[in-house]
Amino acid sequence: MSSTTALNETPVAPWLVGGVWRRSGAERFGPVYNPSTGRPIARAPLCGPEQVNAAVEAAAAAQPAWGATPAVQRARVMFAYRELIAAHFDELAALVTREHGKTLAESQAEVQRGLEMVEFACSVPSLMKGETLADIARDVDAETVRHPVGVCVGITPFNFPNMVPLWMFPTAIACGNTFVLKPSEKVPLSAVRLGELLMEAGLPDGVFNIVHGDKAAVDALLTHEQVSAVSFVGSTPIARHVYETGTQHGKRVQAAGGAKNHLVIMPDANLELSVQALSGSAFGCAGQRCMAGSVAVAVGDMGDALVDALCAHADRLKAGPTDGGGDADMGPLINPDAVARIGRYLEMAPAQGATVALDGRAKAGGDGFVVGPSVVDRVGPGTPLATEEIFGPVLSVIRTDDLEEALAIGDGCAYGNGASIFTRDGYAARQFKHRFNAGMIGINVGVPAPMAWFPFTGWNRSFFGDLHLQGVESIHFHTRQKTTLTRWFKGAGDASADPVWRSRPGLQSR
Ligand code: NAD
Repeated sequence: MSSTTALNETPVAPWLVGGVWRRSGAERFGPVYNPSTGRPIARAPLCGPEQVNAAVEAAAAAQPAWGATPAVQRARVMFAYRELIAAHFDELAALVTREHGKTLAESQAEVQRGLEMVEFACSVPSLMKGETLADIARDVDAETVRHPVGVCVGITPFNFPNMVPLWMFPTAIACGNTFVLKPSEKVPLSAVRLGELLMEAGLPDGVFNIVHGDKAAVDALLTHEQVSAVSFVGSTPIARHVYETGTQHGKRVQAAGGAKNHLVIMPDANLELSVQALSGSAFGCAGQRCMAGSVAVAVGDMGDALVDALCAHADRLKAGPTDGGGDADMGPLINPDAVARIGRYLEMAPAQGATVALDGRAKAGGDGFVVGPSVVDRVGPGTPLATEEIFGPVLSVIRTDDLEEALAIGDGCAYGNGASIFTRDGYAARQFKHRFNAGMIGINVGVPAPMAWFPFTGWNRSFFGDLHLQGVESIHFHTRQKTTLTRWFKGAGDASADPVWRSRPGLQSR
């Protein structure tokens, strides 16, 4: 059977418009692989403007009634949704492993982080509260109330099929908005299952909608006049495109981009614990995380010991298929393109003066997209291995003389997502925390990714916009404020009946 025939025989991932799941209408389709087997398991319909328009119109039609639903009732839908996700936890995690390839433990961690975003959204009656000040002027009270913004859109990457959509729509919907999700066409199945459970939780039709697709669907969303806000997570070039196009069309946009994260190991660090953390950071989820450690910066004389220990540790990791059980420590990459990209970076190492100390291609094999962990030593700052997002299980090692040199490497980085230091020296840790050029900092923590209650504060080319995803900033992003000044006059509300008003004419013009 040819691969084309196999793809045509796979089920089509449905999209959701106004409470109805649809399967027909798209003219193009993209493959959804099981990365463990290398075989397609579904087709993502690549929706165009017509399907996008139907979804946005359904969301726009549902918004007034949903926005007028009391916040406490909206929160109750989120409580029900939280219970459904918890009840289907194992199924959701298995689905992430099936379409993405990460290990089941990694998928469970992902679903847990997503569940916490729903728990956060359950607090919306507290989180949406405004501000008041009595007597901001004589007899005048001021209050600020948060209103929904309207139709919100979420565009998500392949690497967290469950969690990243949950970074967006629970908060948006709890705030009284309606939503159109455009998940990654590489991993649409988790989004579909999340949508089914949300409908089961009692959400009215049209409040949550899904379209699948690529650039055509994204651009139709970014330019649709009924869309008010766009949340995006993905690579930096697309984040920039989404930010620029969305804002040019009058939308508020938060767009999280790619990353190149540094892990700085000081000479006094506990080598064994640091290596464990570095390995988990660089090779967890096969390096396909925006917070994955990508550059180890070995400070002082510890470079040789660090590289030896890293290679020994990484070499013990078992890379292999993850779907259907197995004992792999590290799963496959998302698709054949990702495997080829890793090969290209390893190939270029010698010409850049670097040494491939551990070559993960030795562990490649089978039908799936498996590549083992790689360590590239003596990488030169400024070379592609040091500056470009590789997005796979490759850890570049740069050697520096001191912390100042390590901080300078951060200053030269175009990205600014995460960075960690490993040390026993509080002064060095404090210098690092305050001065390293990134928005999320770890001190003896390999993956300093904030949880639901804190904002995901990428800097530089890792984020375009003002208000970040997660935490209270996500409430602010998904609401607009209305400020009301109120003055009540004594008596029947007639200004002339108020002696204070009559005696101070200047008040009338204030
Ligand atoms: P991607 O940028 O290729 O795709 C992200 C989304 O954009 C998808 O929904 C895709 O359909 C859409 N898209 C792709 N090409 C487009 C185009 N030309 N025009 C309009 N839309 C387009 O990213 P990916 O490969 O799916 O995900 C990996 C990337 O996401 C990495 O760069 C990673 O660092 C980043 N990421 C960042 C964060 C963060 O919080 N900063 C979190 C997770 C992933």
